Amino acid sequence: MRLTNNYDLPPQFMRAITNPVLAYSKGDADMSVTQLLRSPRIVGLNEKHHHEIEEDISDRIYALLGTVLHKIIELSDTGGLNATERMIEERVFSRVNGWTISGGIDYYTPNPTNLRSVVLTDWKFTSVQTVINGRDEWEQQLNLYAALLRREKKVEVSGVENIVIYRDWSKTRSMRNYSNEAYPRAGVERVRQRLWSPQEAEDFLVRRVNVHQDAKVIAELTDEYPQCSDSDRWKPADTYVARYVSGTVAKREHSLDALEKWIFNKQSKKVTPLNFSVEREELLPIRCAHYCTASPWCDQWAAERGRLAKLLPVSMDAETAQALEGEAADPQAGDAEPAEDETPKRRRRSKSNKDQTDE
Ligand code: SF4
Repeated sequence: MRLTNNYDLPPQFMRAITNPVLAYSKGDADMSVTQLLRSPRIVGLNEKHHHEIEEDISDRIYALLGTVLHKIIELSDTGGLNATERMIEERVFSRVNGWTISGGIDYYTPNPTNLRSVVLTDWKFTSVQTVINGRDEWEQQLNLYAALLRREKKVEVSGVENIVIYRDWSKTRSMRNYSNEAYPRAGVERVRQRLWSPQEAEDFLVRRVNVHQDAKVIAELTDEYPQCSDSDRWKPADTYVARYVSGTVAKREHSLDALEKWIFNKQSKKVTPLNFSVEREELLPIRCAHYCTASPWCDQWAAERGRLAKLLPVSMDAETAQALEGEAADPQAGDAEPAEDETPKRRRRSKSNKDQTDE
């Protein structure tokens, strides 16, 4: 990968960004858990074109901040912690279908209510909107780590959670949204994730390995990769738009029914009914357009880039765009799910590990 410095940032910043501590490593493995969760097309094209990929150092700022966070937490694990607060930063390896899979686990601690089992924790440094939208991938990541721990450490896992640090949390917004359950109460919080059964996690691990192995064989034979899904591409669901006669957007909705209800309500309140035109609007796959380092070599994106270029100015709601963009820059976050609707899908929060038991 070639790094550029398009904004004339000082050499200290360049040195910080190129510090080996920041380099992504899957260890001596065929694939990491983070890669397993990505689409085979993204992983394959990135590996194939690794030496041609360019990235500007300004785009690495959240990677830098995320690493600083992890390092400080790691450095803080120097005595003072009792036996029930065992903190680790460890890469666990396991053989799955002939491949070595690795997972970089932040830490696990004995569960205070069941000392024979552990609670697995992963730190996230991300935007508020990401958590409000919900992140299925965080749950998948933690449960894959749990599968690796069960396989290699023979431990029982009784809880999985993220400690989320919000890089854009605002006290005033929190107070303004006090009745809104979705907005976090503090700039850092514990977010419980659903713990899968051991069998469910093991099946998912094997399935993801199979998906990548099959794709690799096909790519070697044909130089073709499976298509990325809308979710892989951070493509929000299409919307329906009502416009005034002037062409100005009056309302956007994700469902035609909801939009028609809105129009009906508007029209029924007027003596002279307002006229609207309704159209379906396709939204841009944000990752393809702005964040996928494989996009210059991707024929799937090339096939639609011309058609979708006109969508570039289409406004996505600001918070969704911020969440998607934030994820792109967060090395701990992996792939983001598209925000298919604006309904808060807030994860349950827990106050302590005591709340975490087998589900
Ligand atoms: S450009 Fe889009 S379709 Fe192509 S690999 Fe990247 S995310 Fe997938």
